[in-house]
Amino acid sequence: MKVNKYIRLTLIVISSLWILLLSLNGYSQKKNTLHQKAVVIDTHNDFLSQSVEKGFMFDQSLKGKTHSDLGRMDAGGLDIQIFSIWCDERPDAFAFANREIDSLYSVVKRNPSTLKIIYSPGDMKTVIKKKIHGAMMGVEGGHMIENDLSKLDSLYKRGVRYMTLTWNNSTPWASSAMEETNGKIPEGKKGLSPFGRDVVKRMNQLGMMVDLSHVGEQTFKDAMATTTKPVIVSHSCVWNLAHVFRNLKDDQIDAVGKNGGVICINFFSGFLDSNFMKRQKVFFEAHQPEKDSLLKTGMQQFFAEDYLFQKYPAEVDGMRATLNTLMDHIDYIVKRIGTDHVGLGSDFDGINSAPRELNGIEDFPKITEALQARGYSNKDIKKILGGNVARVFGENQK
Ligand SMILES: [Zn+2]
Repeated sequence: MKVNKYIRLTLIVISSLWILLLSLNGYSQKKNTLHQKAVVIDTHNDFLSQSVEKGFMFDQSLKGKTHSDLGRMDAGGLDIQIFSIWCDERPDAFAFANREIDSLYSVVKRNPSTLKIIYSPGDMKTVIKKKIHGAMMGVEGGHMIENDLSKLDSLYKRGVRYMTLTWNNSTPWASSAMEETNGKIPEGKKGLSPFGRDVVKRMNQLGMMVDLSHVGEQTFKDAMATTTKPVIVSHSCVWNLAHVFRNLKDDQIDAVGKNGGVICINFFSGFLDSNFMKRQKVFFEAHQPEKDSLLKTGMQQFFAEDYLFQKYPAEVDGMRATLNTLMDHIDYIVKRIGTDHVGLGSDFDGINSAPRELNGIEDFPKITEALQARGYSNKDIKKILGGNVARVFGENQK
């Protein structure tokens, strides 16, 4: 009797352990397989300007210092990173852009078996087939071509595959969202000049994607009327969900749908959640005396605020948006123009606050899980994670 009972008990324990193991396996397989199988592309990461300014190298382990590094591309199942080539308005903008490109070249040179620069859709296929990582480049700000189409050609030759027509600063040929809305550009001067339209046409000829993040509404309209290829909006959010000057209004979202382009959602708390700006205002007011004393030393506002952000991490953490809010922006675009026109443009290493669930590129699988939780099909999830961006790149390179 005793032996029988012992065997029965053992059998019950073994079979329940087996069932638990099977279900756990099924659970993790469902989550991980889809993310691992999908080609995940992030269209905007600002690591390279930090790399040049602070001496960080992408193939170092930088957890705790940056949002991204090569090791964490593995952890995050991030197949292709498009690096932003960014600098503010400066007399040596073209040379500075080239230094950033050099810094990416040197990382790739040190890691030839794991990282490859993607110049063409064929390279993209190779990277995916070999299961290695791909690096692409996008110039963030038309000021870097210094009003010279031959410099645009030169950047293309070095591997740049999109250009954001403006950053926050306008160029003589394109007005930015910031300067169209803050009164710096008078009404008749907004939009693309004839040279600006030539820039767009040349980009179409080269196969360089036209990026409409950061541009003013008039520039957006003029670029849409000029381009013959699908555009990218590499790191922008939805105006109706957060009234920020550079978020996209409904007519702009609709225009991207008609054009066949893709809008890649920015992860910055301040573009996702309009309450972030209110919380930030309260935070800076609480630290006003300290901020004033920093400004008195001659420190610029941006750096003073960044300093306070670093100094009070617990308070700053409480201000972050949520992954759920980011999902609302994806849903909004999908409901308006369908699943073919949305992607991911994190802006990691260019922002000081991301949703609380997303601490760096290692957390990309959480986005796949959130899309699954919202009932998206596997096919649609693959499009959002990277398929749409790959399609737009392919159409630009035809
Ligand atoms: Zn930007």
